[in-house]
Amino acid sequence: MLNGSELATFRKQLLGWFRQFQRDLPWRRIKDPYRIWLSEIMLQQTRVAAAIPYYERFLERFPDVRALAAAPQEEILRAWSGLGYYSRARNLQKAAQQIVAKHGGQFPARMDDVLALPGIGDYTAAAILSIGFGEKYAVLDGNVARVLARLSAIRGDLREATRWQELQETADRLLDPQSPGDWNQAMMELGATLCTPKSPQCLLCPVAQFCEGRKLGIAESLPEKRKKRATVKVTLAAAVFADEKDQTLLLPPPKNTKEKTSADHVPTLVSKMWHFPTISVTAEPARNLLAFLRKRMPAVQSRRWQLIPAGKVRHAVTYRAITLLPFLIHVKKLPRCRGARQVPLSDISGLPASNLTRKVARSALAAAASVPAMN
Ligand code: SF4
Repeated sequence: MLNGSELATFRKQLLGWFRQFQRDLPWRRIKDPYRIWLSEIMLQQTRVAAAIPYYERFLERFPDVRALAAAPQEEILRAWSGLGYYSRARNLQKAAQQIVAKHGGQFPARMDDVLALPGIGDYTAAAILSIGFGEKYAVLDGNVARVLARLSAIRGDLREATRWQELQETADRLLDPQSPGDWNQAMMELGATLCTPKSPQCLLCPVAQFCEGRKLGIAESLPEKRKKRATVKVTLAAAVFADEKDQTLLLPPPKNTKEKTSADHVPTLVSKMWHFPTISVTAEPARNLLAFLRKRMPAVQSRRWQLIPAGKVRHAVTYRAITLLPFLIHVKKLPRCRGARQVPLSDISGLPASNLTRKVARSALAAAASVPAMN
């Protein structure tokens, strides 16, 4: 616990360091709550370097809340395509529509109103309000928690509810009330650039003299590892049709994402975006996939469909380790299927599709190049 003059020095040194050495990031150039919000949502699951081009393209197309609220969802998903965790994009639009309907298109400046928006939790609300409006809310996310755990030599699982609450109280105490926005960004910057998960650069740290973890020689081992949720292995099989003109077939996401996709459990892992016909399998992937296709796309020609194994795609989503087995099916004419759309197999980017679906397309293309088409 820092006394009054220590706290003043701590704040001065950290803010001085931030103002001199902060990275030049596009969302730091204008204090616009919409831009801050967008950047915070993009950065939730994405590295800064990967997020920047998406951020810039997204803003060009959707420069403000009203443009985002009015856009077709498909266009928003396409702009998000490749960033993953697409519920973030859907929630952005729902929140934008709410801001237009309830706040006249102006981003709200009250905590209750911000927290009522879809996809915005305590951390994001504190970031937007402090940086965009100068409100005195301290942010706490994994990065900031790591810095605080090291500064105060806090052991144990930081996400445990009472410990997280204590960390929030510490963050609130440290917050510089004169510059809450810069303060929060300084804490985040310290976590992102010097107080990194591995090998913290304590020699360059502007607040090293206050760091208990460093004094005790345990900084690098903090925070202690959380108990990991066991990995669940999932196997999927996907049908990649290819007609004579290199066209393939993608199925649409369900209109309501909560709606059950089908009795065959088309996995929600792929079906939230445009996807190849896909099922989860435990055995005999080709046979089960063919049975699924015949049910979903009853057609005489299905009797002649030959499923050609087209490699293996591995993908990880949180605790799931996915193995996806694409099967290439050469056809003269693509089968008819409700809601499906035809796109070139060599470029499925015309429809919003997940990274997993794009990997499947690449794997199938590689197989198609080595397997001659049926006549
Ligand atoms: Fe992090 Fe090292 Fe600074 Fe402590 S001294 S806050 S461990 S970078």
